[in-house]
Amino acid sequence: MKYMRFADISLQGGLLSREECMQVLCAPDRDILTLLDAAYRVRHKYFGNTVQIQVLTNAKSGLCQEDCHYCSQSRISKAKIDKYPLISEEKLVSEALRAKDLDAKRFCMALSGRKPTDTEIDSLCAVIAEIKNETGISTCCSIGLIDGDQAKKLKAAGLNRVNHNLNTSEKYHSHICTTHTYQDRINTISLCRATGLEICSGGIIGQGESDEDIIDLLLALREINPDSIPLNFLIPIKGTPLGGLAQNLTPRRCLKVVCLARFLIPDRELRVAGGREQHIRTLQPMVLYAVNSIFVTGYLTTSGQPADEAIQMIADLGFEVEVEGAG
Ligand code: SF4
Repeated sequence: MKYMRFADISLQGGLLSREECMQVLCAPDRDILTLLDAAYRVRHKYFGNTVQIQVLTNAKSGLCQEDCHYCSQSRISKAKIDKYPLISEEKLVSEALRAKDLDAKRFCMALSGRKPTDTEIDSLCAVIAEIKNETGISTCCSIGLIDGDQAKKLKAAGLNRVNHNLNTSEKYHSHICTTHTYQDRINTISLCRATGLEICSGGIIGQGESDEDIIDLLLALREINPDSIPLNFLIPIKGTPLGGLAQNLTPRRCLKVVCLARFLIPDRELRVAGGREQHIRTLQPMVLYAVNSIFVTGYLTTSGQPADEAIQMIADLGFEVEVEGAG
């Protein structure tokens, strides 16, 4: 069966051809189970049946000068969202404690904006040190186009990981943002890596890109080789430029995308992120045969699956939550 051959290629360190990538994205729906079976072989080799749970907090919301078309926090968005500056150290530490109680592997803090101020970096450094001290949980920050000095300060404070997504293919990037470039994103990832920070980088599927763009994005992520890869499925938010976009996302289509991601990037933490609940819907348990990581409770400005439901889903599959310190 051809999907098992794709799994063999992946497991042997090879790379699927573009034509083979396209065969995965365009697989007939009747092939979903055999496709997932092949992706599961790859997933199982590197991650067994473990699932990482991550909790995301929107630590600073709205007020952004960038124009990312998918984002409800951009300067061109008319979406009704809460807008607030960086929340207090006390609140962030208590959110981290809550994440720890949920057996989350990592606590992620996202700040809206093109680039944090030095004052915000100093506040974050204090928070990160306190979270390490109080909880021991691994931390990740999503903070825009930081510079080398800021990255070094965060690393010295104990930050483990930085999230900076490619979002889409290089070719399609100017269709979703005009205030910074794809290259700006690559540069930020490079400088964060140079400081020794782990890298989380992924993308958003369903922004009007072509199948070729999805393949380009996944190949670029393979090249960058991040420690973790979040795959989001766009929730078109009313009031954003992509709010009225007609999407071709179905639960089966999402599963095909994650299977391709697993074949192309076999040994990295692959997380299904925003849009899991809305787009994969009742097939969400099936996605765990390809990915090994999920967010629980919610995303930046949208809510998500409650932690207890996610933990039940994982247990029902016979999988287990990977807790901090266990891998
Ligand atoms: S994704 Fe980040 S940089 Fe882009 S508009 Fe939203 S908050 Fe601003």
